[in-house]
Amino acid sequence: MKLIFERSRAGLRCATLRPMEVASYNLEKKYLRKDVKLPEVAEVDMARHYTELSHNAFGVDSGFYPLGSCTMKYNPKLNEEVAALPGFAKVHPLQDADTVQGNLHLMADLGASLMELTGMDGMTLQPCAGAHGEFTGLLLIAAYHESRRDHKRNKILVPDTAHGTNPASAVMAGFEVINIKSNEEKGVDLDDLREKVGPDTAALMLTNPTTLGLFEKNIEEISKIVHGAGGLLYYDGANLNAIMGVVRPGDMGFDVVHLNLHKTFSTPHGGGGPGSGPVGCKAQLVDFLPQPVVVVNKKGKYELDCPKKSIGKVSSFYGNFAVMVKAFAYIKTLGGDGIKESAEHAVLNANYMKAKLEDIYPTEKRYCMHEFVIDLQKLKNETGVSAKDVAKAMIDRGMHPPTMYFPHIPGVIDEALMIEPTETENKETLDNAVEVLRELYNMAFKDPKYLQDAPHNTPIGRPDEVAAARKPIVKFEGEY
Ligand SMILES: *Cc1c(COP(=O)(O)O)cnc(C)c1O
Repeated sequence: MKLIFERSRAGLRCATLRPMEVASYNLEKKYLRKDVKLPEVAEVDMARHYTELSHNAFGVDSGFYPLGSCTMKYNPKLNEEVAALPGFAKVHPLQDADTVQGNLHLMADLGASLMELTGMDGMTLQPCAGAHGEFTGLLLIAAYHESRRDHKRNKILVPDTAHGTNPASAVMAGFEVINIKSNEEKGVDLDDLREKVGPDTAALMLTNPTTLGLFEKNIEEISKIVHGAGGLLYYDGANLNAIMGVVRPGDMGFDVVHLNLHKTFSTPHGGGGPGSGPVGCKAQLVDFLPQPVVVVNKKGKYELDCPKKSIGKVSSFYGNFAVMVKAFAYIKTLGGDGIKESAEHAVLNANYMKAKLEDIYPTEKRYCMHEFVIDLQKLKNETGVSAKDVAKAMIDRGMHPPTMYFPHIPGVIDEALMIEPTETENKETLDNAVEVLRELYNMAFKDPKYLQDAPHNTPIGRPDEVAAARKPIVKFEGEY
């Protein structure tokens, strides 16, 4: 498509200004820019330009988006409407607490619901992303050990299936990362854990279900081992969609948990935000939570307070308030039973697709949770068609590709596609996706080149993804 600069023609305008009614003022020459080149287009050209651009972007509202680990589910528009109400959208963060009692009430109520869902005793809504929540949670853990003068605990144990943000956050928070191997069932290898845990262990970070979509059955044993050595248990709750309302991290033995409101609780994500990664903790960590927290004072009014040994602030003001409003509306409209039901549907949908694909796409034998990983190594050996080729071909069929090459356990899973259908898709959508994936499998044997050249129907086929991310060209350099 043409760039807006390429649509530009000298003299075209989107608006006609009324003749000036006041005396003109001559700005000093030094303040005047000489070469301001802005595109000159008519309103209709501008409208068409941005509409065309929007058609080239793919979102949950455009079609099936089975992006494993990222929970791209449909977000009810009602929650957007609620968040846009002036009482929520038009307040100022420096307003007196007296004038925003309803908003503070909402934050307190949301925190309480999230504590109930996770089995935690305290909650901060301040972090603005999952990784930001991890960082915050790890600072709580550091502060806890520090307060007990247990200064040796500088290591965080992270299983090899962990989301990449886990080791990154641990390093950011000043810890050393120790990798824990997976066992044959792709869970934590207990022997490896026993060997590596010790007086220098600050915590183990775990996702349950793991990023392979499998429930870690040994979680109670893992909890005993880590706690027995004086370490804490951190729960990466970005995958809560599979278990919310069914089982609680707090009951599994976890001490700290972060959630991704922008995956599980009705905020669309991607493109950099806005997000929200609330962090919950057990009673022994509550005093360290970031300030401010919302509390009720003696007069029954909501106010902001600083926990006794707070680690300080982790973002400006209170976090992304609009995302909290959407999560609040989502939880209230679903209710306890609805939340549980949506988790059950997420798991059912994943198992349905898995069952319809596993005769040709190898995957774990046992039931999965909300997502499953198919292994395309055999297909690649036999046809030369890779996980990436299949993913790219899905784009031509109106679907967003699943997560590729993650989790990556070299030699165990190299050609991975991680499929997370989510609870908001109906049977027709799932059946269609299954049909497409089966067709692409057959095509890999008949016409591998076609898949290797996919996608065929998009403006850009296969950009150099690293260069596109690291050295993006965002400035128009041409003539117009
Ligand atoms: C998405 C995700 C994260 C990180 O969340 P961000 O908001 O992208 O920082 C962490 N862990 C898991 C398992 C995730 O899926």
